[in-house]
Amino acid sequence: MRTMISGGTVVSPTGAQQAEVLVEDERIVGVAAPGAAVVAAFSEGARRIDASGKLVVPGAVDVHTHLDMPFGGTSSADTFETGTRAAAWGGTTTIVDFAIQRKGEALRSGLDTWHSKAEGNCVIDYGFHMIVSDVNDQSCKEMDVLVGEGVSSFKMFMAYPGVFYSTDGEIFRAMQQARTSGATIMMHAENGLAIDVLVSQALARGETAPRFHGITRPDRLEAEATGRAIALAKVAGCPLYIVHLSTTGALEAVAEARGEGQNAFAETCPQYLFLSADDLAREGFEGAKYVCSPPLRAKEHQANLWRGLRTNDLSVVSTDHCPFCFKEQKELGLGDFSKIPNGIPGVEHRVDLTYQGVLAGEITLPRWVEVNATTPARMFGLYPRKGVLAPGSDADIVLYDPTATQTISAATHHMSVDYSAYEGQAITGRVDTVLSRGRTVIEQGQYVGEKGHGSFVARGTNGYLT
Ligand SMILES: [Zn+2]
Repeated sequence: MRTMISGGTVVSPTGAQQAEVLVEDERIVGVAAPGAAVVAAFSEGARRIDASGKLVVPGAVDVHTHLDMPFGGTSSADTFETGTRAAAWGGTTTIVDFAIQRKGEALRSGLDTWHSKAEGNCVIDYGFHMIVSDVNDQSCKEMDVLVGEGVSSFKMFMAYPGVFYSTDGEIFRAMQQARTSGATIMMHAENGLAIDVLVSQALARGETAPRFHGITRPDRLEAEATGRAIALAKVAGCPLYIVHLSTTGALEAVAEARGEGQNAFAETCPQYLFLSADDLAREGFEGAKYVCSPPLRAKEHQANLWRGLRTNDLSVVSTDHCPFCFKEQKELGLGDFSKIPNGIPGVEHRVDLTYQGVLAGEITLPRWVEVNATTPARMFGLYPRKGVLAPGSDADIVLYDPTATQTISAATHHMSVDYSAYEGQAITGRVDTVLSRGRTVIEQGQYVGEKGHGSFVARGTNGYLT
């Protein structure tokens, strides 16, 4: 079966041009100039998708989601079905979710659990990172095995003592192991031990409102942990990727390491680019909608994060999609901010929100494609299968309408959560059509996908190592 995407502007990290994208079954077989002889030959008997007036871009890759994840006595509200469907609506065609090893459990059994949650339920392709929360001889050996199975990145936590937290020694040991297999260590860099002291002191003073979630997680404790993670990775000799970087101080630490040639990388998320501590301080319990970790920061950080995206000290935008409903889930923290489940829904709106950055002149159109699709694919061993429109790549393709307007709202979004952190925001740009391995999932704003189409993608190792 042949499909030709015709008349659009193909955007890649190196530029934009008029081109025809030729698809055969699940793969792209050519990207050609309009009118080229190859196009005429191919078009015979091909299904034609009209992309006039649209941007044609590689399907976005979201390397940070938490679907169907237990946290704080409840579970994130999107299943693999609803979460991947919402992702597709927003132009994302691959997610990499986090499988969890609990203390006392083997990596294998955690990974098996996540495979069974996802298998047969996904609308788009998916992979897994592995959260390591119990470092020992067995789990270190298993890390190498998992790399061989396409789970080539391991997330560790300097935060959440008693849950996911690892000591510096444990982190260092896992980093040494990662070095031998070529794996990347992903780090949640916040000083959880100090934060827990601040949290219990605040609660003892009766400071229970959502905004104290932010006040008890000062930005300096993210910068400190980021610097510490960088030092540990440098000595261990392993690649490091800082997840959900939110502050100027942490960005400076990453920039310095990169300036010295270290394999240190970082992502940020739309919530840190567009929302702030002011949202966390909203009236009454409203702020609970904005509780995530690291917390939303003072507005001053935002301009620096955009600069980091331009300079590539921030290489990726991911969502850290971790939805909890306001009713009953966020409400677990009524009267105690430390019991509010951490996370903001976002998998559907990353491409749209970062496009506002293009319109505002913060990033270029090619850079938009790079931070949403190409770099995350290459960083996590999915490239060139994903993240690029090139012969041989999967036909994961998005037609994006750069002039359509929409208003973000829980009433119209497709995530299985009862609020939007961007409620009422009018934006320009909208996903029109989405193909996943050649199969249409969204067609001119209508969902035509199918659960079970998405399959597990075994990933290689980081494509940026020097
Ligand atoms: Zn996360």
